[in-house]
Amino acid sequence: VKEKGRDGYLLYSEGMEESAHHSLHIKSELSEAIALNQLSLVYQPIVDRNGKVVCAEALLRWQHHEMGNIPPSKFIPLAEGSSLIEELGDWVLHESCNFINQLKAKHVSLDAVAINVSARQFNQGEFASSLLKVISDLGIKASSIELELTEYALLSNLDVAKQAMEQLKRAGISIAVDDFGTGYSSLSYLQSIPLSRLKLDATFVSKIGENNSSNAIVKAIIDMAHGLNLQIVAEGVETQEQYDFLLKNQCDTFQGYLFSRPLKEADFIEYIEHSQIG
Ligand code: C2E
Ligand code: CA
Ligand code: CA
Ligand code: CA
Repeated sequence: VKEKGRDGYLLYSEGMEESAHHSLHIKSELSEAIALNQLSLVYQPIVDRNGKVVCAEALLRWQHHEMGNIPPSKFIPLAEGSSLIEELGDWVLHESCNFINQLKAKHVSLDAVAINVSARQFNQGEFASSLLKVISDLGIKASSIELELTEYALLSNLDVAKQAMEQLKRAGISIAVDDFGTGYSSLSYLQSIPLSRLKLDATFVSKIGENNSSNAIVKAIIDMAHGLNLQIVAEGVETQEQYDFLLKNQCDTFQGYLFSRPLKEADFIEYIEHSQIG
């Protein structure tokens, strides 16, 4: 039984989702998705303390001709098990760079476009060099790209990752830790690798106002980040109450449905043009 969800995603029955056969089917369809032009990126605004859009996070969408919209939480993990993720990652990278050039052509200025990079893609050794080649081929400033990496991607292969990060940092590309607070428990890595930003995971934001201890954790993470000279992005900000608490506690930037859902390229540009006037 399939049904359209709130974001137009198809909801599958438990049994169907779990079945290995279904996963295999999705995977083989995904391997053709690029060639069939079924992939696209949407962009979610990230705003600063004045409400100005300073960044856009690129998020992958897959529109299958029969299965409809399949959410990334369903297909990215499947792709991560094979070299398929590298192909998808390359596509995302090129597409995001084209978007950066589009923004430039429309005189929209952002600090950066944030691109999600999976662990396998990042740890494949050639990642930094090939990224730097892509941006130089497309005439893009390194500082207009921010990479979002999970703690797992950063730490599962620290030697490879450290080298890549130093190379990227030297070139001027910044790195954010995605889903911060949900991964490794040790924090010592924050001192030893060149980071710009932590993205406070939405699970912490969603608990703001629930009780004193959930508020204390959010406050402590923001203070720690600032102590380490890192900026904080709050993910999944949905309510005014969450936003007020984050503002009061000096959070730097904000992302979530309270500001905007992820938007198609043209809608994003329109959104910026309106918010600049208004
Ligand atoms: P993420 O990187 O943590 O991205 C944030 C997710 O939260 C996005 O889901 C976004 O649409 C959603 N979101 C934003 N604001 C709100 C809010 O206020 N409330 C709620 N409930 N959700 C909000 P999405 O687009 O479904 O992506 C899910 C995950 O898939 C991403 O989590 C990321 O891990 C992965 N992903 C998406 N695009 C890419 C990509 O191009 N490459 C890689 N490697 N992973 C990607
Ligand atoms: Ca992300
Ligand atoms: Ca995240
Ligand atoms: Ca997440």
